[in-house]
Amino acid sequence: MIYNIKLRLLLLALLAVLLLSGCRNPFPNAAAKPFSKTSFLLGTIIEISIFDKHDETLMDKAFNRIWEIEKKMTINNAESSEIISLNKASGKNEVTLSPDTLFVLKKGKEYSEMSEGVFDITIGPVVKLWNIGTDYAAVPEKSKLAEAIKLVDYRKLRLNEDNHTAILEKPGMQVDLGAIAKGYAADEAARILKENGVKHAIINLGGNVITVGGNPNRKPWKIGIQNPFNPRGDFMGVVHIQDQTVVTSGTYERYFKENGKIYHHILNPNTGYPVENNLRSVSIITGKSIDGDGLSTTALLYGLEKGMKLVDSLENVEAVFITNDKKVYTSSGLKYIFTITNPEFKLEKLPSTGEPGR
Ligand code: ADP
Ligand code: MG
Repeated sequence: MIYNIKLRLLLLALLAVLLLSGCRNPFPNAAAKPFSKTSFLLGTIIEISIFDKHDETLMDKAFNRIWEIEKKMTINNAESSEIISLNKASGKNEVTLSPDTLFVLKKGKEYSEMSEGVFDITIGPVVKLWNIGTDYAAVPEKSKLAEAIKLVDYRKLRLNEDNHTAILEKPGMQVDLGAIAKGYAADEAARILKENGVKHAIINLGGNVITVGGNPNRKPWKIGIQNPFNPRGDFMGVVHIQDQTVVTSGTYERYFKENGKIYHHILNPNTGYPVENNLRSVSIITGKSIDGDGLSTTALLYGLEKGMKLVDSLENVEAVFITNDKKVYTSSGLKYIFTITNPEFKLEKLPSTGEPGR
């Protein structure tokens, strides 16, 4: 049986927004009520809350920026976008792109290189076959997946920054920015608010949160970490941050069930099937949301041990890993800023990491 999860997700998200606007935030961040606006963009519910200004024009500017990024980079429900043009021209010609799209492609290539293709920004042909998040989601034929994975190769995405162009070298190749575009949009919205004098704000792109400054009481924000077993807006813990972002990738985000088996949206480019390890979600805490987005997807693909190693090797990057049996593993820098609030979840230590040699 195939579930219509898109509609269900939308309803759940709307419900979450209604609930949240009723009781604002389970972790009250400030006494003052913020100036907030909500919109549906980039396939998700986006809420911007500004705590120190009531400026409609600025609010619109931030939302317009997110809309602009969606328009350039979408491959869903749109007739055209820069990425659609790039994909259509695969194996044929170079395409001229805006600095925005080139930047996100460059970042996507960087994470592909760093992970040696475990994260691969050219995963498009495989994503297309699964149709996850649509009404037609179904397990593709094996032979079709085998053909599609042959087209996945970030090294054949060539960027020419001097000419502002890019080309996919093999016919049929397709870029999919689903893993990082939201992060970029979050960074851009935060930048616009900051450049216009906002000192205290929270931007939430469907659970991908970026904060501007600390809260109006000059303390860090308390940001909930999603309980990956419950609908959006139910938190299992809280992290104290300022001027940072929390980005979560989870196998529960988009999925469908067929013959009792769950198929989710984070795909192993070597097999074409959803990645199988014991991770339910990875939340990354870092400065830029685009990095949080790239790293949360990569860490989820890597699995717990390798994912934690990656996080520990990077400056200013922390993480919360949650397994399918509700075990929680955190990177060392989270010791004093992360608390579990739901006792169903248990903090564990990785035997191999112990106290890292630094
Ligand atoms: P979400 O969209 O739920 O925020 P992620 O940021 O983890 O989640 O991104 C998942 C999306 O990334 C998928 O929907 C797909 O578009 C894309 N994707 C899936 N597998 C890979 C992969 N191996 N490398 C790069 N992108 C991927
Ligand atoms: Mg991501």
